[in-house]
Amino acid sequence: MDSEEFRRYGHAVVDRVADYMKNVDTYPVLPQVEPGDIRRKLPPSAPSSGESMDAILADFESIIMPGVTHWNHPRFFAYFPANHSGPAILGEILSAGLGVNGMVWQSCPAATELEEVVMEWLGKLLDLPDAFRGVIQDTASTASLCALLCARERSTGFDVNARGPDAWSERGALRVYVSSEAHSSIEKGAKIAGFGAQNVVTVAVDDRFAMDPAALEKTIAVDRDKGLVPCCIVATVGTTSSTAIDPLRSIGAIARKEGLWLHVDAALAGSAAILPEMRHLLDGIDDAHSFVFNPHKWLFTNFDCSAFYCREPETLVRTLTIMPEYLKTAQDREVTNYRDWGIPLGRRFRSLKLWFVMRSFGVDGLRRRLRAHLALAHDFERWVDESDRFEVMAPVPVQTVCFRFNPFKGQGTETDEGRIEKLNERLLDEVNRSGRIFITHTRLGGRFCLRLSVGQIQTGARHVEEAWHALRTSPVVEAWKSAD
Ligand SMILES: *Cc1c(COP(=O)(O)O)cnc(C)c1O
Repeated sequence: MDSEEFRRYGHAVVDRVADYMKNVDTYPVLPQVEPGDIRRKLPPSAPSSGESMDAILADFESIIMPGVTHWNHPRFFAYFPANHSGPAILGEILSAGLGVNGMVWQSCPAATELEEVVMEWLGKLLDLPDAFRGVIQDTASTASLCALLCARERSTGFDVNARGPDAWSERGALRVYVSSEAHSSIEKGAKIAGFGAQNVVTVAVDDRFAMDPAALEKTIAVDRDKGLVPCCIVATVGTTSSTAIDPLRSIGAIARKEGLWLHVDAALAGSAAILPEMRHLLDGIDDAHSFVFNPHKWLFTNFDCSAFYCREPETLVRTLTIMPEYLKTAQDREVTNYRDWGIPLGRRFRSLKLWFVMRSFGVDGLRRRLRAHLALAHDFERWVDESDRFEVMAPVPVQTVCFRFNPFKGQGTETDEGRIEKLNERLLDEVNRSGRIFITHTRLGGRFCLRLSVGQIQTGARHVEEAWHALRTSPVVEAWKSAD
């Protein structure tokens, strides 16, 4: 492809994306496809000779687009947001256009230094402790794995790095403490880091689904009595099911007293801390050794871009450092070589899109949009709460509402849990199949709940109202009305 052809198709593709962003609400949120539908339309092997860009783009429209779930649809309320924005996409295009690998300072000085600066900007926005140093990772899962590796090496004097499994067996099992609502990435990270799933200890939650510090303290004491080795606490700010907030201050005091690494997983909810009135979510963060949140979830920076902060970057670097001859440079003493701050050697130029977002929105613009999302979630929470047939299932500290259809609401003691669950399963299926909205479910305290998670860039009052309307007028709910 020569540069003139690239220019022509580049314009066409940008036009396509601009149209998409403008008309995204005309698509069904969930694609109407069955497993295998997309695959069947694709040939089993790559073409032996090159094809025209026109043919490729035509297939993109006819084969790929019908199989896309529209995450940036204003009526996407599933899982958690993964929002994007014009400025982020432009930054991403430039990053792809340069095609650099920012593995060390010398391999692209601008990539390293811009990353340092945007992570400082972001740290100030969240009012993180001055000692925290930031690095961009692909995902919170990877960042939390790095935190677990740091915790492991810190508590074994870097002995597992040096000697492998022998270093474990002499010491007794290292233990990681999480709440029962923690994200599955912690267990996955603990498996990869060699802790073993059975050493990820689940601490009970309170009636707000947040970690109970008294239970944590007791669990650690029991482990010590058994000769096990407490190593790391992972607190969650904004759990995946209900955005519950583990109490960092009390947990931090325990971590300090017990000498444990404290990692804070705020993948979704961390963004809210840019709002002065929500900064309380991070009260107690000073005691954390590491902290992660995802601008690729709720800060208008398209996937992937995860912000990882470490209070002792020297522990992180010492845990992950490698120094082959071919990577030594004359500047090593003066610069940050981010290759030692994460797992992969190669690094994308992700800071570019984050820089574009922060400059183009400005702090005020980011705050205004997050405030609007929070207000919409609270409107929805109020509607549910005031309704005769729907109920709120958990506190709403951030932008996710857990709720369910309960036609027996307020009717004394009778709650036929099995029947309510079936009704909600049907309701979920009905509204998602309609293509008008996409919501997902979870289980809280054993009970099946629906979740509405607000956070796409185009989501406004109208869209949340439409979601509420779709739920109330769904056949399973209507059927109950006529039965009355
Ligand atoms: C989304 C989420 C994760 C996983 O994030 P990835 O970046 O996809 O790895 C981890 N923890 C919490 C609390 C989350 O909300």
